[in-house]
Amino acid sequence: MSYKSDFDTALEEICETLRFLSQTGCHGFDCSKESLNIMESWEHKQARSPETLESIRMDLGDCRRCRLSESRKHIVFGAGDPHARLVFVGEGPGYDEDQKGEPFIGAAGKLLTKIIEAIKYTRDQVYICNIIKCRPPGNRNPLPDEIDACLPFLKRQLTVIKPDVICALGTFAAQALIDTTLPISKLKGRFHDYNGIRVLPTYHPAYLLRNPGKKRDVWEDMQKLMKALGD
Ligand code: URA
Repeated sequence: MSYKSDFDTALEEICETLRFLSQTGCHGFDCSKESLNIMESWEHKQARSPETLESIRMDLGDCRRCRLSESRKHIVFGAGDPHARLVFVGEGPGYDEDQKGEPFIGAAGKLLTKIIEAIKYTRDQVYICNIIKCRPPGNRNPLPDEIDACLPFLKRQLTVIKPDVICALGTFAAQALIDTTLPISKLKGRFHDYNGIRVLPTYHPAYLLRNPGKKRDVWEDMQKLMKALGD
């Protein structure tokens, strides 16, 4: 008894196909580099449709990329003008934001709204988002692997929005965007670079609620922000 190997079977099929092609008048293929290049240049290359905030949100889906998905109620993607010149980046959703799926709507959010209005903008004219999109249980600090899982989505949002200035609110936002371990006290009040976009770190509004004496510092930073925006 003889058993045909897979190789023999494949070879037989190839020979049969070539015999068939030769009967139909085909006497070989020109596989020269030149011919392949010419034919490749005829390909109709489909232009990749540019990314949008909606397509990034779709890609995020019902995200399960980190443990925060287990306890969150809503993903807080971000809100505001998709063409904003100014983006505020906070730390992560708190209780109120998790309940509604909107950024900065609790006590710290109300203060942020006043800060935005003090620089003559409205919430609709800027874009507001966070380093992480799901609430950490008990509002604990985000863990490095949670930031690593979420940050690529924020970076894609920033690429689409292309703001002139990013205001990083608090330590986590500033450190993640500037890629440093320096504390916010050393980073605040100066412009840094994120992929060619100016980043101004300042104190987080939640910190201001606990330390009202720091409001003057933030107001000084906001004046620098207005100047950078030419307002
Ligand atoms: N604190 C944040 O950092 N982000 C929010 O969305 C709300 C509170």
